[in-house]
Amino acid sequence: MDLVSLMSNDIILRTLTPYLPLSALGNLARTCSSLNDILLCRPGAIHELDLAFYSTKTVAKVLEMPVVRSSLRVLFLDSCFVDNEGLKSLFIEYKLRHLSLCASYGWSLECLTDLIEKYYLISVSVSVELSPSSSLSSSYATSVFSGHSGYSTPTTEDDRPSRPSIKSLGLLGGPMFPTTSLSATAPVFVELATKAGIVTDLTQCQAHFPAPSPAGWFLAEPNARTCHTCGRADENLCLRCLVLRSCRGCQKFWCSKCDPTVSRTRLDCYDCGPTCETCKLGVANFCKFCKAKYCRVHQEGSTDEYCDWCSSRGGRSRHLY
Ligand SMILES: [Zn+2]
Ligand SMILES: [Zn+2]
Ligand SMILES: [Zn+2]
Ligand SMILES: [Zn+2]
Ligand SMILES: [Zn+2]
Repeated sequence: MDLVSLMSNDIILRTLTPYLPLSALGNLARTCSSLNDILLCRPGAIHELDLAFYSTKTVAKVLEMPVVRSSLRVLFLDSCFVDNEGLKSLFIEYKLRHLSLCASYGWSLECLTDLIEKYYLISVSVSVELSPSSSLSSSYATSVFSGHSGYSTPTTEDDRPSRPSIKSLGLLGGPMFPTTSLSATAPVFVELATKAGIVTDLTQCQAHFPAPSPAGWFLAEPNARTCHTCGRADENLCLRCLVLRSCRGCQKFWCSKCDPTVSRTRLDCYDCGPTCETCKLGVANFCKFCKAKYCRVHQEGSTDEYCDWCSSRGGRSRHLY
């Protein structure tokens, strides 16, 4: 069976295309007109696209393609620029089920919240049929290049909302939901999304020590590291926990069940980072004169027995006599 007849099979086509990066799809489509028709024109060909890290121009160009408009269900725009108009367009002009905006930038939380309130929560009670002629004319490409980054809520009768198809959002990271600091907005937003029936990747780090903060969430990230003691890697931790529970010297990691109080690693030197007892041997020393802890590697002028201050002040000789 040749490639064209193989790809003509809808099931094979749908199964195969999500595994092909955009460049491979384009290259394949360029080989002959039959494959071009199958891959870039046939409805249902492109169900899933990962456009993470692609340029704004490329993203706009791809999202404008009719096959993408009609077929796309899963879209990754991680680390891409997406402005408020673009975000709005993705909600109401496409039939996406999952939209991943992890570490993307350019859009505002206010806009996303407005979209969910308007199209999911208000439409539930209003129960409006959207007329096919409704004026959702702004396209992703025109919005990106028009220079309008502001978001305005449509107010006309013709613009009455129907529920978008998006069921899950990837939002972790980036300026809206950073993993590096406490997020006060995450719990409020997740409550709203849950009410709207949207699943998000925003969860609170359960392994936090001391206990999770009432002021907000330390957002959990998938953790691929396995615990040095029990060998498990089943916890999602926030970045702070991941750093504090890992030894920067030997890269060992301890899970919160084996080490509930973050005691296996300690931060004694900012240059060394958190390190375990084994890695501290001969590095984190106590000064024989002033008894203070010092880093033998990073405190310039220190000796094996004295901190930099005591050794430069002649602490050694004062101690001896
Ligand atoms: Zn944590
Ligand atoms: Zn463990
Ligand atoms: Zn270590
Ligand atoms: Zn150090
Ligand atoms: Zn000293």
